[in-house]
Amino acid sequence: MTAWKNAQQQLFNVADQLGLSGSMKAFLAEPEAVHVFTVPLSMDDGSTQVLTGIRAQHSFARGPAKGGIRFHPGVTIDEVKALSMWMTWKCAVVNIPYGGAKGGLIIDYKALSPHEKERATRAYARRLLPYIGPDFDIPAPDVNTGGREMAWICDEYSHYVGHPEPAVITGKPVEFGGSVGRIDATGRGVALTVQRYYEIRNEPLERKRVVIQGFGNVGQWAARVLSKMGAIIIAISDSKGGVHAEEGLNVEAAIEHKEQTGRVSGFAGSEISNEELLELECDILAPCALDGAIHGKNARKVKASVIAEGANGPTTTEADEILQSRKVTVLPDVLANAGGVTVSYFEWVQNRQRLAWSVHDVHQKLRDVMRASTDDVCRVADDKGVNWRIAAYLLAVERVAAAVRMTRSDI
Ligand code: GLU
Repeated sequence: MTAWKNAQQQLFNVADQLGLSGSMKAFLAEPEAVHVFTVPLSMDDGSTQVLTGIRAQHSFARGPAKGGIRFHPGVTIDEVKALSMWMTWKCAVVNIPYGGAKGGLIIDYKALSPHEKERATRAYARRLLPYIGPDFDIPAPDVNTGGREMAWICDEYSHYVGHPEPAVITGKPVEFGGSVGRIDATGRGVALTVQRYYEIRNEPLERKRVVIQGFGNVGQWAARVLSKMGAIIIAISDSKGGVHAEEGLNVEAAIEHKEQTGRVSGFAGSEISNEELLELECDILAPCALDGAIHGKNARKVKASVIAEGANGPTTTEADEILQSRKVTVLPDVLANAGGVTVSYFEWVQNRQRLAWSVHDVHQKLRDVMRASTDDVCRVADDKGVNWRIAAYLLAVERVAAAVRMTRSDI
């Protein structure tokens, strides 16, 4: 099952319960626009590669489209479409005034030289410029992109419009119009969702055993904040493999090891594969890598009682059904990883008002949003007797459909 089929199925799973009309269902089941463009990249050796760039804009119903840009060899048009749809629901779950979008460049970005990286990002940005803007579509980081890439894209856009325009993109370095607290926001949001979940259940988070799949920005920050909250990180992995230590891993040392060697393997503990990691005995499993990690074939082997989705789309609909029948609670991506776009929204608000908030304010506001949204989703789950993903979708899709109805009596 591809990410796109999965995303559409998740929408269809709530469409009837919400009483969506056939035309509303059809309208929400496709992005409003998908831009696909060639991106010529001059390599250091003098050759030119012609890459494919994509930007899918799923919805403008609740505000400008919003969503990250990923640079990865596995990117496809369908995956970007799915990710753009997930952004729409995510922004609606946390109730920020945005629609959803996502961008992608099909490239093995990590293998490029520093100069090639800059040329690739700027070349992608130049083809993207006509489709974005601070009131129209605001990109941000995603897989393999970060502050540096955002600064280059912002620079291209600012030259294009003839003046600095920081609000066109979020996730910028703090020195370049970014917000404090944005780098850690997605991982922190995952931790806050998990913390609130256990509070609601009247169970301590302290000493809960956590397994983290994916040790990029999201996984590292989720590990850091969860361990500060008293949980024990017993295993971590990245695309090259993982490590496991039942007594707990030192998160700061693990991050340092990853920074120095580019991988988690070789760090203290026993080496395990990504597949083994997902099936470890633990309380909380946080998939923080790519979509489709938990699927029909391995869902039965997951031993965690809670899955906190730091990644977008890590659980297929087939796996969802298996997990539900096994009473595993999935804290869905559109809630659990919404901290990133929430602080992106704060960054955009600060840029537009020419203000810079303190880290205390950003953390406080993020905490308020994540706790309130977790409570909202929990309430719907309890009221309707559905799992948390269905509850989040009921909440989000209804909000988006209500906005569409305000201007489109024909839908
Ligand atoms: N790429 C992140 C996500 O999937 C952040 C998006 C944003 O900040 O706009 O939520």
